[in-house]
Amino acid sequence: MGYDFELDRVKRELTAMGAKSCMVQLPEGLKQFGPQIAGELEKAGFRAVISLERCFGACDVLRGGYDATLHYAHAPYARKEPKTVYVELRQEADAGRIADSAEHKLRAKNVGLVTTIQFLNVLPKLKQELEKRGFAVEVGKRGHYTYYDGQVLGCDFFAATNCKKAQEFIYVGSGRFHPIGVAEKTGKRVVQVNPNDDYKAQEFASGIWEKEKWLRISKASDARSWGIVLCSKKGQRNVHAADNAKRWLEEKGRKATLLELNDIIPQALEYAPFDAFVITACPRIVLDDWKNYKKPVLLAEEIKELLS
Ligand code: SF4
Repeated sequence: MGYDFELDRVKRELTAMGAKSCMVQLPEGLKQFGPQIAGELEKAGFRAVISLERCFGACDVLRGGYDATLHYAHAPYARKEPKTVYVELRQEADAGRIADSAEHKLRAKNVGLVTTIQFLNVLPKLKQELEKRGFAVEVGKRGHYTYYDGQVLGCDFFAATNCKKAQEFIYVGSGRFHPIGVAEKTGKRVVQVNPNDDYKAQEFASGIWEKEKWLRISKASDARSWGIVLCSKKGQRNVHAADNAKRWLEEKGRKATLLELNDIIPQALEYAPFDAFVITACPRIVLDDWKNYKKPVLLAEEIKELLS
């Protein structure tokens, strides 16, 4: 797929900010394009430095010691960071083909539409297309961390939960995490249509995360010593959740220690001297990656259920 890195706009915005240098942040799958982007910016007289840190979301805008940040493939996290140019890299998709695929799998006539930033452009046309076919269609309002109506993030499914009339959802995009998240948070069926996989449709029902949560809780039930992990990434730092989890555990006689980490990966926790961990950063670390951790990992709010 050819991407439009919007380098003309980027150069204009960097100039308008008075920036002479910038940090270039790309998600893992797009890091290969870093040298091309940096090369173009250097030709225009900017000092461009590619960040090799892992980057999963706009919750983690890095500045380093540079004048500005060029952040690719995510929309602003709740609000725009100062001195930051966002290039969302949206993709076009065929609304008619999405509707064709979804229609066979839908059982209800009231439908909510959700997606991630990449396919946000298609939602208005998809809404029209479905309405022509007799569906009542809702696009939910943006949440606390999302930037656009209809957009969901792993930490913000409000655009789905806020659709009050929808009996089912269409999720446009790839991967399993977001459609499962929509099903779990709403309790409704989700039909995922993936334009990057020949518009194939797949169904998801709620219950997967709930089942996995109780499995994680049962693995952690005998843990006496707990590490409460805070993340040093600005947008993922949740001191309130960490303090609550610590207090709840200590009230029930368990030992709890606050820890801090920037990049929360299984290897980083492997030798830490605790029986189990509470991860207060991106919920995806627990919900999506828990099987990769040798010791049990829980979300802060799950501690209450563990102790009840
Ligand atoms: S906290 Fe996680 S889900 Fe939310 S924006 Fe950051 S990386 Fe994405």
